[in-house]
Amino acid sequence: MVMLAHAPGSAQTADWKALEAEALKTLQAYIRIDTSNPPGDVTKAADLLASVLDREGIPVKRYESAPGRSILLARLEGSGSAKPILLLHHMDVVPADAARWKRDPFGGEIADGAIWGRGSMDMKGIGVSHLYAFIALKRQKVPLDRDILLMAVPDEEVGGGAGAVWMRNNHYADFEPEYILDEGGFGSRDLFVPGKLVFGISVAEKKILWIKLTAEGVAGHGSQPHDRNPNDRLIKALARLLGEPLPAMPFSVVDTFKTRVGTLVENKFNNAIQHSTISITSLRSGVGEPPKVNVIPSPPSRRHRLADDRAIRD
Ligand SMILES: [Zn+2]
Repeated sequence: MVMLAHAPGSAQTADWKALEAEALKTLQAYIRIDTSNPPGDVTKAADLLASVLDREGIPVKRYESAPGRSILLARLEGSGSAKPILLLHHMDVVPADAARWKRDPFGGEIADGAIWGRGSMDMKGIGVSHLYAFIALKRQKVPLDRDILLMAVPDEEVGGGAGAVWMRNNHYADFEPEYILDEGGFGSRDLFVPGKLVFGISVAEKKILWIKLTAEGVAGHGSQPHDRNPNDRLIKALARLLGEPLPAMPFSVVDTFKTRVGTLVENKFNNAIQHSTISITSLRSGVGEPPKVNVIPSPPSRRHRLADDRAIRD
């Protein structure tokens, strides 16, 4: 919301304290709506944002890409001399395991100087900052040379096909922005170079390559191990994969970044943006559910393989 402090032609000085309190209340209500994805229903979240905008007299356009996949687009009109700035956030969150949280992940409690809840960082907090920046522009009647748009989308946590991608494919003319402010580009004082404040601008995205490794072998009883156990083969194959560093490749975007910013501090984030990386995210094996501990598993059936392929695509 810093940009508002420098907004030209502000008709009045904002009461930032009051605005902050309003924003905090909305963020608590927003966090309390469980938009875990899967299943990813965001209807109530979109209703909440729409009700706040309605109260301000800001028109809202609603879309639905699929049942429960609500999309919201609001607009503050400018003179039209430039293309819009889009404030974009996603309403869905990744699921939270409440047993591993100190506080209710959907409680929106304020404690220890922080607000607690799934989505407070990613990215309902940013969404509410967008919302109240948007509202403050309207209340202060700031003259705009371009439209400012606020868009809230579903489905980001599972790829965005029914969210931002769907909007781009089906309704691009409704928002066609020059700039987007979203969660991709962020500022940090220590993440890249210690003590140096760096704001990132997203110019590319690291790509994902999903690979499924299936080990074939021969079933048997655990008491009589043999040399064709598919688990053994899988473990050896994964060890080889992890044991050899991936071939190094120059990334011109990262090289330019380092030239401008300096030597990057060693952490998992900087490692991931400079190299191709491997994460083993799931391992499945065994006969039965839960798997029998004394059986060397047989190769997966065709039916199971099809189900696995679907899971990977999802
Ligand atoms: Zn996010």
